[in-house]
Amino acid sequence: MLPFAIDRSCVVAAHPGERVRVRSLDLGETVEVAADGSTDTSGVEPAWGRYVAAVVSELAALGRPASGMDALLASDVPLGSGLSSSAALEVAIAIALAAAAEWMPSAAELAAACRAAEERATGVPGGIMDQLTSVCGRSGDALLIDCRTLEIVPVPLSENIAVLAVHSGVSRTLAGSAYAERRRACEALARELGVPALRDAHEAQVSDNPLGRHVVSENRRVLESAEALADDDGAQLGELLLESHASLRDDFAVSTPELDVLVAELVDAGALGARLTGAGFGGCVVAVCDPEPADAIAEAATARYRERTGREPTVFRCRAVAGAGPIPPLDG
Ligand code: ADP
Ligand code: MG
Repeated sequence: MLPFAIDRSCVVAAHPGERVRVRSLDLGETVEVAADGSTDTSGVEPAWGRYVAAVVSELAALGRPASGMDALLASDVPLGSGLSSSAALEVAIAIALAAAAEWMPSAAELAAACRAAEERATGVPGGIMDQLTSVCGRSGDALLIDCRTLEIVPVPLSENIAVLAVHSGVSRTLAGSAYAERRRACEALARELGVPALRDAHEAQVSDNPLGRHVVSENRRVLESAEALADDDGAQLGELLLESHASLRDDFAVSTPELDVLVAELVDAGALGARLTGAGFGGCVVAVCDPEPADAIAEAATARYRERTGREPTVFRCRAVAGAGPIPPLDG
């Protein structure tokens, strides 16, 4: 995969306490769970507290001492848009909990625990991209990540390429169940082909299976996209994004008419390319453009999109920034 950490963040401020108490300033609600991870995640209310409870439990399983904290959190990651506010929340809470216990796992362990917490909290067997990116992001770089080894190769994101995330104004209601379904189908196909995972199949082996075709060709496109980025070749990157979108739409079947219109209007307005991002079925598309006309392209495309669909899109221009970590205390 080839993600980067965007310039939005979830911030947690905490002091030691008996239990783990977290107030979300964004929602005006507080949750409280046992510091040793023994609170049953599924019973926690309000529901966002399940992410907190799940992180506490996963870190306890990793060996975190049962230190409590009294915490406030505030986030400027839009909730439920496909920009991973949930991973931002998990990672920020995990880092605060680790600091409270003066105990710190490795970056990979931290990300894996947060991924497991997301699955525990939601029941969706998601991958590690969001959490690993949130932990390991690097200023100015995209991250080429091999999910099998979790090896990360930074790829500079050139100043000559602007990246936009554009929310379609449609929430991703089916995304969780469809994701689990696609994942099961891919695992079944890999078993049928006798390979550990579909990435190990050749294009010829999957040429008559749309799911397999998507996965195998997408893995190739990710590597080619990293090369295009390294070569500062925005036009090539844009082409690859468009091929990826077509594959997600036609072979993997996770697009929607709105996402298709949004991609088409972005390209029509001058973007070099765009594709849906996240699990599909609503949420965001990601587009690349030349930096100078990027804002005008976004404005023209979203105006046309609004006209054609009646939906209200939102544009986020994103920079690659460093991942999450403790914030040094202010002087004085
Ligand atoms: P995404 O991760 O794309 O934003 P998700 O549906 O995975 O969408 O996660 C959104 C959920 O994460 C919210 O519904 C809420 O439960 C939780 N969440 C994220 N940020 C906050 C926050 N600042 N305060 C409370 N809950 C939050
Ligand atoms: Mg999420």
